[in-house]
Amino acid sequence: MSTQPTSILESYLEDLASLVNFDCGTENPDGVTRAAGIMKEHFDSIGFKTEIIDFGPAVGNGLLATNKPGASRYDVLLNAHLDTVFPDGTAATRPLTIKGDRAYGPGCADCKGGVLAIYYALKAARKEDLDRLSIAVAYNPDEETGSRHSQKWLSELSSKADRVLIFEPARANGELVRSRKGAARLKINFHGQSSHAGNAPYKGANANLAAIRFASAAAGLADVERGTTVNPGLIHGGEAANIISSHCEVVLDLRYWNNVDWKLLTTEIEKLAQQTWAPRVTQEYVWLTNDPAMPYSESSKVLVDQVTEAARLEGFEVKWLDVGGASDGNLMAEHGTLVVDGCGPAGGDYHSDKEFLRLDTVEERIRMVSRFLTLI
Ligand SMILES: [Zn+2]
Repeated sequence: MSTQPTSILESYLEDLASLVNFDCGTENPDGVTRAAGIMKEHFDSIGFKTEIIDFGPAVGNGLLATNKPGASRYDVLLNAHLDTVFPDGTAATRPLTIKGDRAYGPGCADCKGGVLAIYYALKAARKEDLDRLSIAVAYNPDEETGSRHSQKWLSELSSKADRVLIFEPARANGELVRSRKGAARLKINFHGQSSHAGNAPYKGANANLAAIRFASAAAGLADVERGTTVNPGLIHGGEAANIISSHCEVVLDLRYWNNVDWKLLTTEIEKLAQQTWAPRVTQEYVWLTNDPAMPYSESSKVLVDQVTEAARLEGFEVKWLDVGGASDGNLMAEHGTLVVDGCGPAGGDYHSDKEFLRLDTVEERIRMVSRFLTLI
């Protein structure tokens, strides 16, 4: 005999199963588009204006939902992603399963748990808050592969928003994220001249030598106190031990807590990239990525405090992390918009077959977000 859902959690888990139990990898546009369609119906049902966003054939659709169509500013933008990292076939092999106080299944926490929490929080929001506030919800289809197709859209939306809450799952212990280091990646190719290391060493121009001198100087720009790092993570060069190396490629990974350090570091690195590091060795460089930090600042502290207060009013304490890994939050913080991340229910072991969602955090995080809307 089937029974009607009686609690928010039961209803949430039913909806979660309908989002998790089909393949939704970034490379499966049909699956991601299906998820966008399911969320569109949910938001239509609570009177939000919805718009399916077409990002081209390579990725699935996204969804924009708002209670104030045509608004030029948003009081708050809520974001989560619809895609997972899992290949086709995963959903059939291990659909959403509940064991004890955890749910398991591909993307159950990252990020379907958060996708759904946004909807439940807005469904439960007070009418007066929905009347007063301009709220936008943005679901993007390609976060797991770097949001290349949705980046510009997210950036434009966030530039119109006063604050952004991102619904990646909270950490397994319930912690949220208040800042993320910015990340940049520079690739530089050194070109020398090969020659026999024994018979004609001086005819050669050693690209490896230039590369390691450059990499060493670049790494020297790191600043432990400021938390700025420069990692020469890849160095590929040379033909054989007895050949003067004709080519070498170096890829640097740069990290920084704020955008003043970002500008300083990238300027210094570019200066180094234009110097001569070994006789007759030339080089050219390209920035593979170059993204701002999602900083914790005087102004973002206000947002962090509001979320903390909302949780306290709902009977629990939240703690905050500063993390070195970048996300869509970095991009959305670029225009000075205040951003916090990890607002979804807690979970762990993401991107693995052990991924779980902590059921005891589902209702409290939903209530936290509804309550947050009363405080802004
Ligand atoms: Zn995610």
